[in-house]
Amino acid sequence: MAGRPRTVGVLALQGDFREHLKVLRALGADARPVRRPQELAEIDGLVIPGGESTVMDKLSRAFGMAEPIKAAIAGGMPVYGTCAGLIMLANTVRDSIDGQQSFGGLDVVVRRNAFGTQLDSFETDLDVPVLGDEPVHAVFIRAPIVDEVGNAARSLAELDDGTVVAVEQGPLLGTSFHPEMTGDDRFHRYFLGKLG
Ligand code: GLN
Repeated sequence: MAGRPRTVGVLALQGDFREHLKVLRALGADARPVRRPQELAEIDGLVIPGGESTVMDKLSRAFGMAEPIKAAIAGGMPVYGTCAGLIMLANTVRDSIDGQQSFGGLDVVVRRNAFGTQLDSFETDLDVPVLGDEPVHAVFIRAPIVDEVGNAARSLAELDDGTVVAVEQGPLLGTSFHPEMTGDDRFHRYFLGKLG
C-alpha cells in the first residue's frame, strides 16, 4: 500500500535500543521494541542495537528469541546490526567468550573489542560511498571490526588502514560504529530502503 509507514522492530533485550527507536520514528517509520517471538511476525525489518553481545546472546536464548530471529534472517528479513548487533549478525565471531553464539547470516568474521583498551572508544570521519560524498562521523565504543569479508558480503566502509567497519549482504547491514548516536540518519535511511 502506497505510503504505508514501514514497521521496524528494534531488539530491546539489552543495549541502546531507545536511540534507534528515536531515529527510526523521526524518519517516519512505525518503530517498536521487540522482545517476544510473536512480535517478529509484525515487523518488516529488525534493528539489533549496540550493547554487549555476550548478554544479548544469553538473553535472546533465554527469551526464546534466538531461533525465531535466525529463521527471520533465513527468510530474508532485512536486519541492521550496530556494534554488538553486528557481532550478533556475523557468521563467525573471534574473541568471543566461551559458548557465545551469534544469530549469523552475514558472511563475515568479526573480532570483538578489536581496538583494545588503549583505544577503547574513538570517533572518526568515514567515507561511505553508498551514502554519498559527505563523510559519516562514526563513533566507535569497544567496537568489533570485520576481519574477513566472505564472498556473499561486501564492505561499505573502511578505516584509513583498510580495516572494514561497515558491511552489507542483500537485506543485511552491519556497522562497527553507532550511527544512532550522532544525528546522521543516513544509515537508517539506507536500511529503510531495504524494506521495499
Ligand atoms: N564490546 C561489545 C560486545 O562485544 C560491543 C560494544 C558496543 O556495542 N558498543 O558486544
